[in-house]
Amino acid sequence: MQTLMNALASFWHIWSFTLVLDVGRYLVAAGGLALILKLFWGLGLKHRKIQARWASNADVRREILTSLRTGLIFSLNGTAVAFGAITGIFTVYRDFDKAGIGYLAISVIAVIIVHDAYFYWTHRMMHHPRLYPYFHRTHHRSVTPTPFAAYAFDIPEALVMAAFMPLWLAFVPMHVLGMFLFMAFMIIRNVMGHAGVELMPRSLADSRWFGWINSTTHHDLHHATFHHNYGLYFTWWDKMMGTEHPAYRERLRGTPARDAVAADDAVRPAIAAS
Ligand SMILES: [Zn+2]
Ligand SMILES: [Zn+2]
Repeated sequence: MQTLMNALASFWHIWSFTLVLDVGRYLVAAGGLALILKLFWGLGLKHRKIQARWASNADVRREILTSLRTGLIFSLNGTAVAFGAITGIFTVYRDFDKAGIGYLAISVIAVIIVHDAYFYWTHRMMHHPRLYPYFHRTHHRSVTPTPFAAYAFDIPEALVMAAFMPLWLAFVPMHVLGMFLFMAFMIIRNVMGHAGVELMPRSLADSRWFGWINSTTHHDLHHATFHHNYGLYFTWWDKMMGTEHPAYRERLRGTPARDAVAADDAVRPAIAAS
């Protein structure tokens, strides 16, 4: 009995922590970016709006509610990962005796690159007509996304996204700071992709050195046109697999908002509502 009570006590202890961490990082990142957009709207951001269309209040409400549900799923997954680390299934270390700062840096870069590949391929899978209605429809109800769409997933999609961390940790030891840096990077890039306003320099469109970094226009076009731009952090998978939107570079250069996403745009709301 005492053992069960102790196990329950540590579950509550860890879960309350992961709940604050997962829901908290969503609220801080999405709310923070929404506030930044509001504060700097008149100071030039309005000229960087990507679509002519606006998200409705109902869209934002749906994005927040479904994202909070995802935050809850992520926190339960985080609790399972923490128990996995405590019982030695995963190696999550806290000091630098085992591996130095070099390993920390390499492991964070590696987890970002592998997560981008995981995202691209699971995302393409979820666009399969058989899987789409169960896995990915909720996310695409946001035709004109806002930062609050970051975690707006169906439950099966949230589980696919959550599965990445335990899969990664089954093979690669991580410093707890490395995990924190990765989670921070992930949510910041995620809300930026849904900002609805281009936050990256437009010179990325033609940059030989940095053209592989995703812009907001890249993911926004995915929401608006549905069939292109599946990548998360980088453009290379879309380039390699021929799924980059043909007008992506041109739009990133700064096509006026009124011209937004022409023919496909008219088709999208019908798909989202189906
Ligand atoms: Zn999609
Ligand atoms: Zn999205």
